[in-house]
Amino acid sequence: MPIAEISALTRKFAQKLIQNSEECEAFLGALQVGACRDRAVLWLVERVNEVPWQVESGPEWRPTFVDRVGTGARPGSHPLHEQGAFYCLDFSSVFSASAVCAFPELVGAKVVDICAAPGGKSIFAWRAASPSILISNEVIGKRTGALISNLVRCKIRNARVVRHDPEVLAEILGTSADLVIVDAPCSGQSLIAKGEDSPGCFHPATINMNANRQRRIISNSAKVVAGGGMLMYMTCTYAREENEGVLEWFVKKNPSFRALSVPHLEAHHSTLSSLPCYRLWPQQGLGAGAFVAVLRCEEERDCGGDESKLHVLWDSSASH
Ligand code: SAM
Repeated sequence: MPIAEISALTRKFAQKLIQNSEECEAFLGALQVGACRDRAVLWLVERVNEVPWQVESGPEWRPTFVDRVGTGARPGSHPLHEQGAFYCLDFSSVFSASAVCAFPELVGAKVVDICAAPGGKSIFAWRAASPSILISNEVIGKRTGALISNLVRCKIRNARVVRHDPEVLAEILGTSADLVIVDAPCSGQSLIAKGEDSPGCFHPATINMNANRQRRIISNSAKVVAGGGMLMYMTCTYAREENEGVLEWFVKKNPSFRALSVPHLEAHHSTLSSLPCYRLWPQQGLGAGAFVAVLRCEEERDCGGDESKLHVLWDSSASH
């Protein structure tokens, strides 16, 4: 049953984004129904077979440690959740974070998650790549509590939570990370496909404000990537300006970074750029929507930092 009216602004946005009229209507239909609440369970211990929720099959690229769960499932209220046996996240987040799994060389890497709260991508990266050190940064003070409590509950090791503006973090860390994750703040358009509110999310001013902020964040985040290291840029919004637009702008400004293919996501290759990057659309039936691009730094870099200047809010070595 439709729960939302599609405004003229939203329709105009969709028609500009999606040229194929059938696809465009399917997209608008998914926004209107607002039922894309596909969830996932990310196992941090060996998977338990007897769970009181339905596990859905597919897609074939789904990481082995992730279950897709039925929309009616409430895994977060199971005692195993409190024990840190798993972390619950949207399946769209699994889509973007799964890019980590495409690069086995990242196992044991130094990982920096620039926009980390409440912790989904940090926990995914920790599970997928067993980092030698994971630095989870969150600039908004009131969001750091949830981040720390999730990392503590999930017994994440070799990890620190810090709070810095990305520009300051880049100065402190220097070019030291094998993987930098930027799960950027965005206009939040996919919230509509989940049936949630996201006021003004299709307004050009909102999109522009976010795209400008994303450019600042990705530029500063790139300064933390070591020579040969990777930068993963992701959002949960649809606007081209915040996704392919940011990627293309960044690569033009930073020619030493090359966008890489993610083989298991090829079926989701974005048609909105000639660069390799990937989209999950709400009408595809796997979640509310996501975008991800992976870049490798192909220049030699040697810019030392001084980690003693980190504002560390939590350190796993002190809490286990
Ligand atoms: N990565 C998280 C996860 O998977 O659980 C979700 C991150 S959310 C999409 C974006 C985050 O960016 C928010 O926690 C927000 O507080 C943070 N943020 C907002 N403004 C920022 C800025 N100017 N620089 C860096 N991070 C910012």
